[in-house]
Amino acid sequence: MRPRSLVALVCIWLSLAAAAAGQDGRAASAPQPVDGVTRLVDAIQRAADAGDANAIRSLARPGLRATQLTEFIQSLAEPKVSRATVKERDRAVVDGRVRMLLEILTERDIEGRVTTWRLDVEPVGSDLDGPWGIAYIERLTTVGGLYRLSLDGSSEFDVRNLTISQPDLSLVLPSGYAFMARTPDGPTALVLIGKGHMAFTPKPEAERGQLKIFSGSEALKTEFDTVFLRLNSSEFSDQISADSLKRRSAVDPGHLRRATQVLETYLPKSFQIDLNDLSTASWSLEPSGSDFVAEVVTGRYGPLTYARANAEPEDISFFDRRKHRNIAVYPSDTKLASRGRFFSEDEKLEYDVKHYEIDVSFAPDRLWVDGTAKITIHTRAAFLSTLTLRLADPLVVRSISSPQFGRLLHLRVVGQNNVLVGFPATIVGNTDLELDVTYGGRLPPQSIDREAITQQQEPSPQEAIPVPLEPQYMYSNRSYWYPQAPVTQYATAKITASVPGELDVVASGTQRGPATLLPAPPGQRPRRKFVFEAARPTRYLAVFISRFVSAPPSVIRVQDDDDPLTLTVETNPRQTNRARGMSEKAADILKFYASLLADAPYDSFTLAVTESDLPGGHSPAYFAMLNQPLPTTPFVWSNDPVSFQNYPSFFVAHELAHQWWGQAVGWKNYHEQWLSEGFAQYFAALYAEHERGSDQFVGVLRQMRKWAIEMSPQGPVYLGYRLGHLKGEGKVFRALVYDKGAMVLHMLRRLLGDDAFYAGLREFYATWRYKKAGTDDFRAAMEKAGGRSLERFFDRWIFGSGIPSMRFTSRVEGGQLLARFEQKGDVYDVPVTVSITYADGTTENVVVPVTEQTVSRAIPLKGAVRSVEVNKDGGALVEMEK
Ligand SMILES: [Zn+2]
Repeated sequence: MRPRSLVALVCIWLSLAAAAAGQDGRAASAPQPVDGVTRLVDAIQRAADAGDANAIRSLARPGLRATQLTEFIQSLAEPKVSRATVKERDRAVVDGRVRMLLEILTERDIEGRVTTWRLDVEPVGSDLDGPWGIAYIERLTTVGGLYRLSLDGSSEFDVRNLTISQPDLSLVLPSGYAFMARTPDGPTALVLIGKGHMAFTPKPEAERGQLKIFSGSEALKTEFDTVFLRLNSSEFSDQISADSLKRRSAVDPGHLRRATQVLETYLPKSFQIDLNDLSTASWSLEPSGSDFVAEVVTGRYGPLTYARANAEPEDISFFDRRKHRNIAVYPSDTKLASRGRFFSEDEKLEYDVKHYEIDVSFAPDRLWVDGTAKITIHTRAAFLSTLTLRLADPLVVRSISSPQFGRLLHLRVVGQNNVLVGFPATIVGNTDLELDVTYGGRLPPQSIDREAITQQQEPSPQEAIPVPLEPQYMYSNRSYWYPQAPVTQYATAKITASVPGELDVVASGTQRGPATLLPAPPGQRPRRKFVFEAARPTRYLAVFISRFVSAPPSVIRVQDDDDPLTLTVETNPRQTNRARGMSEKAADILKFYASLLADAPYDSFTLAVTESDLPGGHSPAYFAMLNQPLPTTPFVWSNDPVSFQNYPSFFVAHELAHQWWGQAVGWKNYHEQWLSEGFAQYFAALYAEHERGSDQFVGVLRQMRKWAIEMSPQGPVYLGYRLGHLKGEGKVFRALVYDKGAMVLHMLRRLLGDDAFYAGLREFYATWRYKKAGTDDFRAAMEKAGGRSLERFFDRWIFGSGIPSMRFTSRVEGGQLLARFEQKGDVYDVPVTVSITYADGTTENVVVPVTEQTVSRAIPLKGAVRSVEVNKDGGALVEMEK
């Protein structure tokens, strides 16, 4: 976890001057050894270092346009640079000349600028090994506004009664000292040292709840002894009152040393750009507009980061640096006014990816990945001169090019899984573009912690019999193993994956043909190649590598014969017996879900059954993996919100439901994850009822109810991953997003009745298939089906964290049971079951929708009453007063 939003906006600060287009886009080829060209590049480097304009001029061939040469000279030598770094990126032979791409970093004082140039060069004489000259120059991309920041050691300031105010934050420093770091435009960083007070008081109730979990209080008030600020230099005088900083007559060297240490610790944590091999120095961008970061070092909580990032839909964040956790993330009042209550992470996207074509080779023993990706994108932004690709930080980008523009400038944002790609020309909206990315590096697979259960017991070293598990490698949504859009997005894909010959691959898509053996050089192990095609859009792509035995595929008829679904079950070799019957079970589950929603979103499905010490699973589009614990496992997991000990099929039913919920219908942002997990959980419960009857269903619901009620005070379902996050308690997340989410659906079903509920669910599914939905969209579909407002229902159950408490009384009068419910406090919409047991032993269940402070209902009786019970089926999240 990283402080969100500090660098997502980087593109804004890159002042990319786009030169005219007009590249012929000749394919880039590998550099060829033409020594004369290399010597010319060296000559440019030497001339720039020396600030020698004439030396550059002397490299021109007759016919080179004067304007081109002047621009080149001004960029490199006028005024003289303190340092220039010239790198040749690309070389091709075009029309008898050599066309090359240079990336040049020019440094003047603390400011850096990266420019890419296209140069056509030719030999001066007939000897290719003789001198070469420049025949054509074109500036492609310029990235400016890069600074090597350091403290101004010549000025120390005394601090007197300094107050810094940001939305919901105040920092007060009565006395202390300060140092600044500046760009030519003014101060952009400030180090404050002294005993001060911080107050952070988030407005939203859910955020106050999280702050209370973190600090014990809904408002955090604590002392600090150091603050590091970053802001735009033009904002400095608004934020920092000139009266509060007085320049000292002399700098205290001890103070300067301490302040320098603070700068060196916190400067690299945000607004940093990696210039690849152009420079090893640390380069900073200036925050844009009113963006603001305060790193506040407190005695009690360690360093805390408050950030304001205007480009984010939730522009305020508060972050615990020690534990790497988000404490608060929410919109300011201004942001809320501009965007409304709900948002989609897609709204700020600059482009849509339409199709991925990925060719990737894995060496799992070295955790090594090498790949090429062809990405077909469609631009959304009106104008685009850079775009951001997401790719795991450890992976090195070797090249990015496009048929339209040739090789493209790319820079890494430090500490983020982001790559910035610069274009030589501004691209207008609604343009189709292809990017070719070559990349590779050491990338460990992701753990399967999404659905997994945490161990509750350390294995005892004496008793544990070590059984070496079949190795498995999952590269999926959290490993960023291929270059992709910054947020999940629906796209079609083709994946070609090669692995060592003894391993198998399951991936997002339908496998095309059997694996093919790749010719291996002598002495090397053979490798196998697998091809998958995802013809229907998927949110993200996954590759799962292990050793498998395949059962013959079976074809399931979903709706009619035109719509078959091919099911394949693959198992680790030792799991084949235990997985027997899994194929029939999976087919039955898939058929059941398809009948509920009148559709199956993907035309093939592979279930990979693997061995593990703990149960768990992961379900990308087109496949799911399911960890089956070996009998020898030393772990115990019975006491977990998602472990249904008396219904072993629950896990597989949950994972399969994700093909519909989570994959086909996605979620707009992290708040909406219950639309995936709560729905998958409820569908698994429905399958339990379908397969085993109502007693099994009631047993599952009771467990969900217990966990949901126990954990509800930890926050609303709408907090998504942040539930339990501050204390690393996965159980809280699973109890609320999974179990409470499922209970909310169950209550909704009983409130609307089965017909309206399933009609609404089908409409919601059909409308949002291959799209990302939100709670507001779900509410709209259910309101339409149910013909009533559900505003309060969702406000209480999804956006609120309370559990209603009510009193129930009943008496028999005139052949009727007079039942009365009275809610204490806030009114919830909650359907409660009244179970009447008659003298003859028969039972009648009546669902009463309790939607007012008090609800009375006269239930006609069929005989003498032996007993009356309320919420016996556990179908309502309610606490009954005795
Ligand atoms: Zn799940």
